Amino acid sequence: MKHNFGAGPCILPQEVFKQASQAVLNFNDTGLSILEISHRAPEFVAVMDEAINLVKELLNVPAGYSVVFLQGGASLQFCMVAMNLLPEGKKAAYLETGVWAKKAVAEAKLFGEVEVVASSKDKNYSYIPKDYSISEDNVYFHCTSNNTIFGTQMHSFPQTNVPIVCDMSSDIFSKEINVADFDLIYAGAQKNIGPAGATLVIVKDEILGKSGRKIPSMLDYKIHIEGESMYNTPPVFSVFVSMLNLRWLKAKGGVAQIAKENDAKAAALYMEIDRNPLFKGTTAVEDRSKMSICFVMENPELEKPFLKYAEDKGCIGIKGHRSVGGFRASQYNALPITSVHVLIEAMQEFAEQNA
Ligand code: PLP
Repeated sequence: MKHNFGAGPCILPQEVFKQASQAVLNFNDTGLSILEISHRAPEFVAVMDEAINLVKELLNVPAGYSVVFLQGGASLQFCMVAMNLLPEGKKAAYLETGVWAKKAVAEAKLFGEVEVVASSKDKNYSYIPKDYSISEDNVYFHCTSNNTIFGTQMHSFPQTNVPIVCDMSSDIFSKEINVADFDLIYAGAQKNIGPAGATLVIVKDEILGKSGRKIPSMLDYKIHIEGESMYNTPPVFSVFVSMLNLRWLKAKGGVAQIAKENDAKAAALYMEIDRNPLFKGTTAVEDRSKMSICFVMENPELEKPFLKYAEDKGCIGIKGHRSVGGFRASQYNALPITSVHVLIEAMQEFAEQNA
């Protein structure tokens, strides 16, 4: 049996993969594949509606917000956010907590002024800066809730009157959030939502239409909202499987329930990292991510043998990102706690053998 600790794309429950594969052959007994039915057919419109309604229900999205499925990944949002929200000559504040945040900064600079209010680059992005202020002349404040590569997570957000825009690509639906605290949330689908190809955007309607610039249709949030995520051909498979996965999450008890499970998984693995003399965490303890758990070995020479040992036990995808080294165990919603126990056992056995 494989225990997939990979960072993505798209770690989903087996039952969701099974339903998805069935629909590729015969969608809802239509005799047609989900991939070939028209996206304008009532059957697919119903899929899109259900996916959007599940997002609203699971995250308690308040009135006055629109939910759309777009394309281009979270990376396109780095540019769309600034293009739609940042008028020329105006300024936006960015918190630089890792590679993705840095890319968002670079794109925003194409459209207006960017103030990096704080950065954790000085310590290889191993913590979340807390000592900064956001001046009110900023049109918005942009942050990344989970730093997928370096393993830090924002466990709280600044109290500010400046609208908050958040890249939640790698922790959306993993814990409860108050959508009303944010003016725009975006997330590439391919972690806790569904297959790569769709990007979820939740946006407060009143912040749109104020950039003062002409926006190409495909990059204009308003056009996609008016088109009900069907301005052009949507990524039908990604939206369909996202819907199946959100159904799975709802049936499981929703975000509150999965948050409890994610807390338990993260607590178990961090406890072993802290207890086991062979391993150590790489991030500030208070900023540890519950989704992307990064750790190294006290003796780097043991890392290759441990990687092999863990892989032989079925734990795959734990090799760390090249900018941190060591290991990264991604613990997305679909990963059961039993898999975490297998990894912990591997760490314990390896420590006994290498004492
Ligand atoms: N933001 C975060 C936090 C990510 O983890 C990623 C990818 O892993 C991205 C942005 C980029 O996403 P995409 O590949 O969908 O453009």
